[in-house]
Amino acid sequence: MSDSALFSTYARYPITLVKGKGSRVWDDQGKEYLDFMSGLAVANLGHVPDAVKAALVSQLDELWHVSNLFHIPGQEKAARLLVDNSCADAVFFCNSGAEANEAAIKLARRYHQKLKGNERYEIITFTQSFHGRTLATLTATGQDKVKEGFLPLPQGFVHVPLHDLPALEAAITDKTAAIMLELVQAEGGVIPVDQDFLRAVRALCDRHGLLLIVDEVQTGMGRTGKLFAYEHYDVEPDIFTLAKGIGSGFPVGAMLAKEHVKPAFVPGAHATTFGGTPIAMAVVAATIETMLKENVAEKAAAASEYLIAQLQEKLAGLPNVDQVRGKGLLIGILCNAPAGDAIAELHKRGLLVVPAGPNVIRLLPNLLVTNEEIDTAVGLIAAVLTEQAAAKAAQ
Ligand SMILES: *Cc1c(COP(=O)(O)O)cnc(C)c1O
Repeated sequence: MSDSALFSTYARYPITLVKGKGSRVWDDQGKEYLDFMSGLAVANLGHVPDAVKAALVSQLDELWHVSNLFHIPGQEKAARLLVDNSCADAVFFCNSGAEANEAAIKLARRYHQKLKGNERYEIITFTQSFHGRTLATLTATGQDKVKEGFLPLPQGFVHVPLHDLPALEAAITDKTAAIMLELVQAEGGVIPVDQDFLRAVRALCDRHGLLLIVDEVQTGMGRTGKLFAYEHYDVEPDIFTLAKGIGSGFPVGAMLAKEHVKPAFVPGAHATTFGGTPIAMAVVAATIETMLKENVAEKAAAASEYLIAQLQEKLAGLPNVDQVRGKGLLIGILCNAPAGDAIAELHKRGLLVVPAGPNVIRLLPNLLVTNEEIDTAVGLIAAVLTEQAAAKAAQ
């Protein structure tokens, strides 16, 4: 719309969503959609989850905002829930994934410069990664398209190809502070990291005194069938970050770290006005408590098995489909051509999915998705891809 008062930062789909509940959303024409993108891994408990809504509404009557110059009991509670259920010992709350990654980058530099007394500052990341849109996190991101027009970029970031151990080893110098990665490269095309590679990365970090930072902004909060994706691996990060699913749709981010890194942040070292407000913390605590009480990650793992099996079966033999890949309910269908037309057609037929790179259809249903909903979604995807293959063959 040319008369919009907004920056045109987004290439928006021609759909206006106005209501949601569970796996369903409705547009302003009253049309119903089955939502297999969940606001990009945000609505992990489905839209407007009852328990989280109750906690939010109840907090609205008490207190909305209080400065971090005061104690905030909700922050202590939410942080306790996170550390009791992860390898981390400390949490910093912020408002987005990019901010959580900024905090992780700052913490890694400060850990070396203040606790270790060295001058390490460089962070090694991987090509095709995505870490956010602030200047530091877009520099960390291993995709050139997010950097165009923003020169000069901050110093201190190096990229190597994923799964290339010799290149990674060669990139480590006496300036290296940390290695940072997603365990499923999500925006980069739904590419899971190999077990052996991550073990080798951890070993390199240990050998060289580097911090391992895992970006769990998209993979965290049950998305991959465990509360955190690193639990699939026999490896623990020193620092990891969360956002997307942690607030069930309320904007929240978190940066978590282990005990040995914790003292690198002291009063005045890092701060944000809106980080960990009472409202945000009520939502985070209710989200985590619901996930634990309802075994949501286990349910996601079971739904994932069913979804992948159905996709394998219904898409078998299609010449336009190369691979189904991913972890948990972060699934990519790798097509052998741009997937934009198929995605637009699925939207028309009432299934919301999203790309991950040009050729991948990404599926991110909520973690409580039913087998019946999966059947519907897979039926629509198989129909559209089969029709596309037939049309191509007829050309
Ligand atoms: C979405 C995402 C981010 C950025 O989060 P924002 O909340 O958009 O700033 C960072 N890392 C990963 C892996 C993401 O998926």
